[in-house]
Amino acid sequence: MHQASGHNHRRCIAAALHSADRLCAGSGTRMTALRRKVLAYVWRGHDAVKAYDILARLGGDAHLAKPPTVYRTLQFLRAQGLVHRLESLNAFVGCPQPGKPHEGQFLICSRCGLVREIHEPAIADAVAEGATAAGFRVERQMVEVQGLCAKCR
Ligand SMILES: [Zn+2]
Ligand SMILES: [Zn+2]
Ligand SMILES: [Zn+2]
Repeated sequence: MHQASGHNHRRCIAAALHSADRLCAGSGTRMTALRRKVLAYVWRGHDAVKAYDILARLGGDAHLAKPPTVYRTLQFLRAQGLVHRLESLNAFVGCPQPGKPHEGQFLICSRCGLVREIHEPAIADAVAEGATAAGFRVERQMVEVQGLCAKCR
């Protein structure tokens, strides 16, 4: 797990749960206890979490710890924009700026696992432009960049 350091991580978790409540209220849905639990666990650090880690975490709750329940919950959080799925890791990471649709780019540290989301519109535009030139219609893009974070370099 990536150890959150250099900042008060409890604030990150509180902010994520607060955004979740606000977004759900706005979209007429609800953060159930299970959704809160899963979102808080995804936010346990700034690295990506695999679905089976969440399952293991919920292990004490036999009726909650069923794969379809966990996948449905992750799917919900994803649809609300609260988490992103990193394809290269097959894992989930909390979105620090949920609430508006965006094409983020993800910087993934291959040593400590830190995932940092950045928003560079020029990158999304360049991908769309290249795709259009190839006659391709973009539906979704995930730019995932592997490397070393500032601390691990
Ligand atoms: Zn944090
Ligand atoms: Zn995001
Ligand atoms: Zn690192």
